[in-house]
Amino acid sequence: MDNINPTQSAQFSQTSMDPVKSDRIEGALEELKEHFGPDALKSGSEINSDYGHDEMETVFHLPDILITPTCTEDVSQVLRIADRYEIPVVARGGGTGLVGGSVAVEGGIMIDLAGMNKIIGIDVTNAMLITQPGVLLKDVAAYAKDHGFLYAPDPGEKTATIGGNISTNAGGMRAVKYGVTRNSVEAITVVTAPGDIVNLGGIVSKNSSGFDLKDLIIGSEGTLAIVTEARLKLFPLPKFSTSLLIPFNDYHAAISNVPRILATGIRPTALEFFEEDSIALWENYAHDSFPEKGFKAYLLLTFDGASQQAIEEAYEETAELCLAHEAADVFVLDDQSLSDQVWRARDSFLEAFKNSTSQMDEIDAVVPVGSLADMVDFTHSYSENNGIRIGGFGHAGNGNLHLYICRDDLNDRDWRTKLRLAFDALYGKAYELQGKISGEHGIGYAKRDYLVATTQPQVLTMMRAVKRALDPKNILNPQKVI
Ligand SMILES: Cc1cc2nc3c(=O)[nH]c(=O)nc-3n(C[C@H](O)[C@H](O)[C@H](O)COP(=O)(O)OP(=O)(O)OC[C@H]3O[C@@H](n4cnc5c(N)ncnc54)[C@H](O)[C@@H]3O)c2cc1C
Repeated sequence: MDNINPTQSAQFSQTSMDPVKSDRIEGALEELKEHFGPDALKSGSEINSDYGHDEMETVFHLPDILITPTCTEDVSQVLRIADRYEIPVVARGGGTGLVGGSVAVEGGIMIDLAGMNKIIGIDVTNAMLITQPGVLLKDVAAYAKDHGFLYAPDPGEKTATIGGNISTNAGGMRAVKYGVTRNSVEAITVVTAPGDIVNLGGIVSKNSSGFDLKDLIIGSEGTLAIVTEARLKLFPLPKFSTSLLIPFNDYHAAISNVPRILATGIRPTALEFFEEDSIALWENYAHDSFPEKGFKAYLLLTFDGASQQAIEEAYEETAELCLAHEAADVFVLDDQSLSDQVWRARDSFLEAFKNSTSQMDEIDAVVPVGSLADMVDFTHSYSENNGIRIGGFGHAGNGNLHLYICRDDLNDRDWRTKLRLAFDALYGKAYELQGKISGEHGIGYAKRDYLVATTQPQVLTMMRAVKRALDPKNILNPQKVI
């Protein structure tokens, strides 16, 4: 990995606007006021500072204009005006992203899709849910469940929007068995940079009709189009589900069991890895007690299916395999409240890390599952040898680790230097192991230099050509991804 210069991960501060741009913003604002009333349009100091950052808070910049549309036509209207005045447009979902993707780093217009928050309905015959993009993941999941279906993607942050999940191709806990968000999106309606409304994908279950532009837009982080409606794939609700908590006295032994489990052909729904530090931080953050502590590291698995017998066979084989390879014990979480408590803890580890330090930044690398142990070993030794706290957990069944680099009491200069060196080393190791920069959180603003440094130049040229073709004026989420 060559030529890394991660200066972009630094704090980005609000700058004064050049006069030409200021005139363009004024012109657009006047036109937008003809279409949107004061409830749907805010500008300047009326905009709440929460819109200036995302959940990671490493990048801060406010938009000049904030629009809260209620329908696809509203979004189209905004983009037509933005296109004419050549003003940047940033789509915003729940703002739970971790890479500065939803931050208006050049100001301009932010479209807050939280206003498009209606579930349109369920197509029972085709097992699909149709929704606007601002509906929260937890509400989509609950609605599907109430109608006897499972919406499979299960990222940790349930207050993210479906539009945000689609635009980052969010992963989450159940990706081992059901795949990531892209695998659960059948069709989308998008608004393009010039303001055209376009339908991509379809109700069909297979499709070889030309380029798959739906899958291109999914995961493009608002840089190619804005998603205004989605048709999501549903599964029948699994009748049975059981979780296992498998503790180890050594983190290397725990993580080494992940490829071993998957090699048997058993497909758990979820396969998570975490260590004792995550539990201690969570207990402190949540003022709660983790049920089975005192071990160095854990695997947490869920098995779901149509028969209890099939689930039991799968988890018994997994338990025996792990016990034969250094597991200290196996806890079957068949008590629902116990299982809920363990999963609640797992869902809050990120917040627990954030709560434990003055500042932090994250690595969301994904490596082949066979290289997970190497990546975890390297992270431990890097942290110990370089005087910087790095904690981690992750969706191990997909080789996806979330590593948190913590500032603690480092002064500003040491923090910036150590953070940059840790990024270089850990991304460098992931690259050496044939991994990728992001498994699910995306590239956004903060990780662009690392995407460039680890991607074949010809691939970067193709990505830039796609961006130019779909957004020739570079209006959609500029300075993001590529
Ligand atoms: C505690 C916690 C746990 C998390 N766990 C997971 C996890 O397990 N898996 C995972 O993948 N992520 C996880 N995340 C990250 C985050 O929740 C996801 O990236 C999520 O998909 C972001 O959705 P959002 O609605 O908050 O989008 P935002 O943060 O608002 O935006 C994210 C990106 O999508 C773009 N965007 C948003 N809506 C649209 C739209 N309608 N059209 C076009 N572009 C749009 C934005 O411009 C931006 O680039 C976690 C975050 C937190 C805080």
